Amino acid sequence: MAVKSEGSRVQVAVRLRPVLSKPTVDKCVSGIDQKSLEIWNWRNSKQSLRFEFDNFFGEESQQKDIFSKCVRPLLRHTLQGQNVSVFAYGPTGAGKTYTMQGTSDQPGVIPRSLYTLFRAIKNSEKGPNPEWKHTISFSYLEIYQEKVYDLLEVKAHDLPIREDQQRNIFISNLGEQEITSVQDFQKHFQPANQNRTTAATKLNSRSSRSHSVLLVKVKKTKETDKEVRSQIGKLYLIDLAGSENNKKTGNQGIRLKESGCINMSLFQLGKVVDALNQGLPRIPYRDSKLTRLLQDSLGGHAHACMLTNIAPEQEFYMDTYTTLNFAAKSRNVVNKPFVREISETKKIPEAKNVPQKRSISDEEN
Ligand code: ADP
Ligand code: MG
Repeated sequence: MAVKSEGSRVQVAVRLRPVLSKPTVDKCVSGIDQKSLEIWNWRNSKQSLRFEFDNFFGEESQQKDIFSKCVRPLLRHTLQGQNVSVFAYGPTGAGKTYTMQGTSDQPGVIPRSLYTLFRAIKNSEKGPNPEWKHTISFSYLEIYQEKVYDLLEVKAHDLPIREDQQRNIFISNLGEQEITSVQDFQKHFQPANQNRTTAATKLNSRSSRSHSVLLVKVKKTKETDKEVRSQIGKLYLIDLAGSENNKKTGNQGIRLKESGCINMSLFQLGKVVDALNQGLPRIPYRDSKLTRLLQDSLGGHAHACMLTNIAPEQEFYMDTYTTLNFAAKSRNVVNKPFVREISETKKIPEAKNVPQKRSISDEEN
């Protein structure tokens, strides 16, 4: 059985995407083992910085590796009527959408999760618990400039986030589609995806400036002569907006305003994750729409995983550095220059008096 405090902790994984175009390009990040990686230290070239996470996935990692290690173990909670959230964090171009959606050849977390849920339900109804009947439905929304928009049933206005008497968070009037298979899901999800607010930045022409939130609900019902019992488990699969800073993307005007809102809500998400992982008594859920929405699915009895995406190329260095500092459980300055090959046997001395955690805002100011 899980230790109580483990339930509220947010597991943090980092995935380094492969170099996309030029194979000879200079890299500023490299993996060490299944939990840690190093990047060069821009403040001191004689040092590198070593970060440790719950899981690290290197450039060769496959979609199934991330899913099996980080996401699949959480899905059983959704099937038991508990809430789960999985979110992809990182700069634009680092692989968030690839990790979450993937391609038809390399499906990501979203199709794999649905496939696993449908299979588990089928097995359960055929096998040990035929009396429990399941239905799966989904909603799809985006949070853009602190406003909530329905992507399934497009409405012009911002939707309010509410809490019911059992402290469940919900959005009134949010569209919900029942689905019977992964194919059925794709049929409704693909057109809804086209409704996302995207705008070109210098980094990525399909750069997403909003948080896209897929909510999958698994409802279990058992009917006897005397009563009808039901349980609902929620699974949030979230592709967060890019975490890059304004100066590098050349954002101005409306784009700069968007970046402000994005960074503000990412900053609040970081504060919530930090508070949960440090076991603080007060978790600041109410400070942004995103964290308010996740209040019943992040911390408490919910289970959560942050999939942090980073890119290896030098041009991403500052974003990678900021992203790792945001996500890191621990960080050490290592007194040796950054190298691309790591010797397993060499004992690396660690520097003392290093600040353990830095917030994302350090680099933005
Ligand atoms: P983001 O959503 O973070 O902006 P994308 O997921 O769109 O980034 O990834 C940027 C580009 O890199 C896309 O062309 C995507 O197909 C590719 N890509 C990302 N991660 C990987 C990976 N692990 N393996 C292969 N290609 C990847
Ligand atoms: Mg994307």
